[in-house]
Amino acid sequence: MPQHDSSHSQAQGLILQEELKILREKNQQLQQQLEISQQRHREVEQRLALHPISGLPTHYMMEAQIQELLSAAEKDSFHSYAFVLIQLGPAYDMVKRTMKSSVTEWVLYQLSQRLNLLLGTDDHIFHTRENEFLILRRYDEESVLTSFLTLIQHQVTEPHIFSGFNLTLESWIGVSLYPQHGIDRSALLHGADIALGHCQELKAPFVIFDVSLEKRVLEKMELQNAIIKAIEAPALKAIGHQFELYFQPKLTLARQGQAWSVKGIQAEVLLRWNHPTKGQIQPSQFIPIAEETGLIMPIGKWSLYQVVEQLKDWGETAFGEVQLAFNVSARQFRSHDLVEIFQKATRKHKTVVEKLTLEVTETSLFEDPLEAEQILKAFKNFGLKISVDDFGTGFSSLSHLHKFTLDEIKIDQSFVRGLPENPQDLAIVRSLISIAKELNLHIVAEGVETLNQLEELADLGCQTVQGYLISRPLTRAGFESFVHKLQTNGRCLELTSPLETA
Ligand code: C2E
Ligand code: CA
Ligand code: CA
Repeated sequence: MPQHDSSHSQAQGLILQEELKILREKNQQLQQQLEISQQRHREVEQRLALHPISGLPTHYMMEAQIQELLSAAEKDSFHSYAFVLIQLGPAYDMVKRTMKSSVTEWVLYQLSQRLNLLLGTDDHIFHTRENEFLILRRYDEESVLTSFLTLIQHQVTEPHIFSGFNLTLESWIGVSLYPQHGIDRSALLHGADIALGHCQELKAPFVIFDVSLEKRVLEKMELQNAIIKAIEAPALKAIGHQFELYFQPKLTLARQGQAWSVKGIQAEVLLRWNHPTKGQIQPSQFIPIAEETGLIMPIGKWSLYQVVEQLKDWGETAFGEVQLAFNVSARQFRSHDLVEIFQKATRKHKTVVEKLTLEVTETSLFEDPLEAEQILKAFKNFGLKISVDDFGTGFSSLSHLHKFTLDEIKIDQSFVRGLPENPQDLAIVRSLISIAKELNLHIVAEGVETLNQLEELADLGCQTVQGYLISRPLTRAGFESFVHKLQTNGRCLELTSPLETA
């Protein structure tokens, strides 16, 4: 039936045409959408290319620019380049935390303008992170570079004045050089970053990369891994295989003619790490790493449980009078669960709480004084005594001390060292002792190494002392025999000549 056939194919043709039309329309729509999204993409890229506050090129632009510069440098082998990484220090974070965002933005804008003005036509600057800038600059000689770095530092530290506020920032600057420290982007940025880390650690105005710095970073990482190994599985108990607590006597004395009688016995608990291959590692080497990485938390928890057990054991013996001082680093102090850890550790042995003093550094208190006061109150309510360690080394002023709930201040050993000859140290120690008395705080001197120092301190009114003159830090057994000796010879300490300090 041909008629039927032709009308059928006509109908099919119409359907096809209609479908084609729909497809074309769809295609057109898709094309429009594609153009819109490409346009958006370009806008986003543009936005990403320039920092919204400073208007400087961001790290998106940096990649291409570095590549261009390095390929040009490769062809022209006479040229060297400096990669100058600048990071704003904690003062910037403080401004950010405490001021309106318009103030922070103004500070960033002003700073980027100042940095921009230092640049020559061939230099490049990037605003790589909120608080970080990178400058790429031709390098000729070290003296020219160091003057440039000093200028940067001055521009950062010069006060930023904004509607009545006078804000002062600080910076860390790390530098790497092409081709001396690397020939590709990642090696050079890595080098500048390592130098920046050292600048921060050394509190130097700037640091130029050096291979020895990388070695130090590697050593640090190695130690970090070793700490992890020492404290990891099977459990907290295993920490005791490598870590050990030492006890350094902290005695309250009264002069009796040529001798000294012991009125009170305390000891400061000091951690020692017996590394399986490296031997004993001093706290000054591993505590800062443990603090930085947070590993101080499990280590601190372990030592606290040890201390509680120790006090409980001694409580049932002749050593029951011994009190212990426990060091708490800044990170431990700030962690909100520290009070809870103390509560848990002492739950079954309530009587040990009154024998415990916490040694908190002055810097921990003054980092955030309001928060510190809350934490201190919680410790006090719990029944612990608080001592301010390394007193005089931080930035606090004595007049701020009364704001805190404290029991004791510990004069830092750097002031004790100068006694009795150094007039400045003498004046500082004298005023510390008199203020402590006014505030009704107990005062302790650490690092007492000579009889002259002890006598001077006693004359000034400081009766509690700690240092190599009395004893070096001792193992548990060593400390027990030290106390036993005191108890059996009438609590009399014969200190006739300065002990060797080697
Ligand atoms: P610190 O709390 O100021 O401890 C006093 C440091 O001075 C100890 O060093 C001690 O051995 C040393 N020392 C004591 N008497 C004298 C002396 O007469 N002359 C000299 N030159 N030094 C003396 P150590 O044991 O190496 O500890 C160093 C630091 O490591 C401690 O300083 C403390 O901040 C930290 N630390 C030690 N153990 C722990 C711990 O268990 N937890 C925490 N968070 N920190 C700890
Ligand atoms: Ca201490
Ligand atoms: Ca100290």
